[in-house]
Amino acid sequence: MPTKTADRYLKIDPWKIIEEGFEKKRSRISESMFCLANEFMGVRGYFEEGYSGNRLLGSYFNNLYEEMEAQHWQLFKGMVTRVCFGVNSVDWLYTRIFLDGEQLDLARCDFYNFKRVLDMKKGTLTREFIWKTKTGKELKVSFLRFLSMDRPNMGFQKITFEPLNFSGNLLVQSGLDYSILHEIAEGWNQVETSDSEFKPRGKNFWTLEKAEYTGDGISALGKTIKSGHLLFSNFRLNSNKILNTAFILQDKLAVLNFPLELEEGKSTFIEKSVVNYWEKSEDKGSVWAKGSDLASEYRHISFDEALKTQEEYWEKAWDNIDIKIDGDDENLQGVRFSIFTLYSTYHGFDPNLNIPCKGLTAEVYHGQVFWDTESYCMPFYIFNNPKAAKNLLLYRYKYLPQACERAKQLDCEGARYPMCTLDGTESCATWQHGDFEIHVSAAVSYAVWLYNKLCDDKEFLFNQGIELLMQISRYYANRGEFSPLNGDFGLYGVMGPDEYHMNVNNNAYTNVMAKKTFEFTLDVIERMKKEAPDLLRKVSEKVGLREGETEDWRKKARLMRIPMNKETGLIEQHDGYFDLPEADVKNIPESQIPIYKHWAYVRIFRYNMIKQPDVLLLPFFFSTDYTPEQKRINYEFYEARCIHESSLSPSIHSILAAELGKKEEAYEFFKYMARLDLDNYNKNTDQGLHVTSMSGAWLNMVYGFGGLRTDGDVLIFKPSIPDNWNSFSFRLQYRGSLLQVNVNREEAEYRILSGPGMVIKVYDREYTVDSNGVKVRLQDLS
Ligand code: BGC
Repeated sequence: MPTKTADRYLKIDPWKIIEEGFEKKRSRISESMFCLANEFMGVRGYFEEGYSGNRLLGSYFNNLYEEMEAQHWQLFKGMVTRVCFGVNSVDWLYTRIFLDGEQLDLARCDFYNFKRVLDMKKGTLTREFIWKTKTGKELKVSFLRFLSMDRPNMGFQKITFEPLNFSGNLLVQSGLDYSILHEIAEGWNQVETSDSEFKPRGKNFWTLEKAEYTGDGISALGKTIKSGHLLFSNFRLNSNKILNTAFILQDKLAVLNFPLELEEGKSTFIEKSVVNYWEKSEDKGSVWAKGSDLASEYRHISFDEALKTQEEYWEKAWDNIDIKIDGDDENLQGVRFSIFTLYSTYHGFDPNLNIPCKGLTAEVYHGQVFWDTESYCMPFYIFNNPKAAKNLLLYRYKYLPQACERAKQLDCEGARYPMCTLDGTESCATWQHGDFEIHVSAAVSYAVWLYNKLCDDKEFLFNQGIELLMQISRYYANRGEFSPLNGDFGLYGVMGPDEYHMNVNNNAYTNVMAKKTFEFTLDVIERMKKEAPDLLRKVSEKVGLREGETEDWRKKARLMRIPMNKETGLIEQHDGYFDLPEADVKNIPESQIPIYKHWAYVRIFRYNMIKQPDVLLLPFFFSTDYTPEQKRINYEFYEARCIHESSLSPSIHSILAAELGKKEEAYEFFKYMARLDLDNYNKNTDQGLHVTSMSGAWLNMVYGFGGLRTDGDVLIFKPSIPDNWNSFSFRLQYRGSLLQVNVNREEAEYRILSGPGMVIKVYDREYTVDSNGVKVRLQDLS
């Protein structure tokens, strides 16, 4: 692995992320690290009282986007001309605090005892410090915020003031700010370095349509300029003091101003309960009414009650999703942080939502959804929250018409899923990626396959699943061609998951995935002929299945070209890959990393250096198709050529290394994956968290050290344990049962906690597991 160094400044704690003493230089990194989300919305860990230093004040709503024209100097057929981006939205935490005319601003004021804590057990963020004013007054200020997991429209903030050496009046403003700037409104400059000098920049994409004083708070309605999203926001305040508020409306900012009388040594608090509601709609009256109704419905919920519910929610969730490691707190913290972030970003409450690759933590990657969801995140949901896994598939089903439309725009038939999207249409205006990465459709069919295999959801498979499969099969059948030299069927002019090779022929990964799609579609059709002939007739009519079309898929599956050295089993990433010059990635100096910032774009493409696992995804997805020797050969060959410039990279390498008994290597990759953002290995955590990649930390524990494989007839385990751990454990939900897995230095134990018993395979031997549990001695995998 090329050298990547950790930048660690937060404390190690198994359940908390702790910053003691404000790290001004790392303010943006911390803002990312202290993000909160609840699937519906997300906020960066910004200072709500205002901060004039380097910051990205980010408040995002899942799938709430603005749109803009994609500019091309020269336009060719098929190029994307309109893109959508998750737009920075209302700052509902907006607060300003003044004492003796001095405004609290941690970039300018004196303060001490700063501490910020993300409590992953409770789902809360707290921050406290003592503000020393120019007049010598000392005021302890504490903030608490959380985004409700069970009522996702709600967010809460509590601010507590305790004067240490005075009594007197404080001036406070609390409001809703729609004047927030979207920072990368002029486009995302990939070459820019993040530590360049801070200048506030960006563009505001909101108009404030209406704002009203409600007595103890404000309601407001904003509208995005182009896309027509309406966002209603309401808050009400509560305090242990009577608040004499004055309503002030300034342009796109609606605030309540009020004095707070403070007494030395005594605490005064203000609680802000917020209800947000949005729709893509023209009907302002209706969105206002629905938002107001929701605000009235939730009026009775007190801050304390909501906090209690939040803690209970997380307690219950952790009971399932938690992973324990005895002997390695720093990586346990990383794994929990990954699980916490992933689950807060998405837990399947709404089938219209998905997992933006950066979650709701940033502007880069534009709040968009990638193939990461299906290829990396799916197993986590299948084993922890099958309803969420199904909702992710329903999301793709909802956008099947757009995928079919995109195929047409690119002169094909069937379903061509976008590289990145917010409304089902292609939002990747970097056409090299958007147009060549045709593997995304196969990630969707793979997810249908995996979900069905593990959750056995016939209802989904025979209704929506089969339609997805038919349209995706049709796409690949139509997109491919036969070789005039040897009659192989192949996919020409593509880019595989490895984005450092463009316009290649027969990317092995894409071809295998397309072949599998054909085969799976044909299997399901055969099954439906027996089990659901009426549904099969219905879907065939709906998609207009043609005479001979399934035969065509069968033939193309059989003739699909998989470039490979038949003698050694080494898969060739694409036709001609073996002939490419060596880049010697392990010796590229750290000063040239990330390579995309230092090498000209076209230079990157002409070597055999790869950005991320491509071929290596195959033995991970379809483990039983490859012999141990073939896995070893391919792993060693491609690992040596991988520069890991996608955060999706280390997890797959760790999993395969664990399987091959390369213990130290597996652990090295795991460490890097588990703390990718906490230690800012890629030097871009300031731009947001790598949320979809965080599923990799879970995959590393369960598929890596747990040794799980899910492509066989039953769950297969080949556990191993890193040398410095005493034990680790996790739980899996599987077909109505809850399976507990504990691995220590000597043995692995499998036990059913609830639901029926099951047959599993451990190191190639079958065991029937029930509530009494089964213990198997660990084997050396090297
Ligand atoms: C990777 C893609 C991935 C995207 C979003 C890119 O850097 O190459 O495979 O889908 O990031 O995570």
